[in-house]
Amino acid sequence: MSREMLEIAAWCWAGIAIVVLPILFVKTAPYGRHTPTAPRFTLPSRIGWIVMESPSAIVFGVCMITAQRPLAIAPLVLAALWELHYLNRAFVYPFRMRGGNRPMPIYICLSAFSFTSFNGYLNGRWVADFGVNAGWASDPRFAIGVALFAIGFAVNQHADALLFRLRGRSDTGYKIPTGGLYRYVSCPNYLGEIVEWCGWALAAWSVAGLAFAVWTIANLAPRAWSHHRWYRATFPDYPAERRALVPGIY
Ligand code: NDP
Repeated sequence: MSREMLEIAAWCWAGIAIVVLPILFVKTAPYGRHTPTAPRFTLPSRIGWIVMESPSAIVFGVCMITAQRPLAIAPLVLAALWELHYLNRAFVYPFRMRGGNRPMPIYICLSAFSFTSFNGYLNGRWVADFGVNAGWASDPRFAIGVALFAIGFAVNQHADALLFRLRGRSDTGYKIPTGGLYRYVSCPNYLGEIVEWCGWALAAWSVAGLAFAVWTIANLAPRAWSHHRWYRATFPDYPAERRALVPGIY
């Protein structure tokens, strides 16, 4: 894809996310606690996560390896952050999660596979071949973006780790999460993920990065709302002051 085509594709990608956002408030993606009771055509969720998330790491990595220009420090840092997140998500997270044999609908896995392949290509190709170069590493937007990514990553990791502790090895039940940012919101892992990708988009200063940040909000803001409603309906003693995603606000 040429630079112009890639930019047009990224704007369209962001536009689709904006259309999808309100739809996901009405139709929650059916995995995890929102899986239908007797789903057809499933695979174990642990395998599903590996299949869904590995294209992000692989496609982005291939773009970097086949880059058509010498790579400066800023693109290398952006690639390192991306790979940190996705190597963890695809190859470490699935083995840390508890209850990984819970069935996941295959179509969810395949649609996420297409999503992460395309998103990995848009962002990887931009960073490798067209995006920021040498001088950008000293721009404040780069430093602030990297710092936001680091904060978001830490919040996401910590919040997911607190969830894992709620279960035994092959347990699939749910408890009220406590500790860390769970004091304030039902889904601090989603909040961390959103901060991460907004930070990465700022550091990358690209339409492709922006489109992925918008997609992350479109996927996770409605899902946080669904989780929050589910917690309230399931646990009569669920903390009333806890919000869904943003402390004190939403
Ligand atoms: P959830 O918070 O729904 O679940 C995370 C893990 O914790 C799952 O294994 C889940 O089990 C378990 N869990 C959740 N709540 C409880 C509880 N109350 N008691 C016991 N166990 C619990 O996150 P998702 O599965 O939706 O997402 C996983 C990660 O992927 C998150 O870090 C998220 O930020 C990221 N993500 C990113 C997206 C993006 O667009 N960038 C899109 C979707 C996810 P179970 O599966 O059985 O419910």
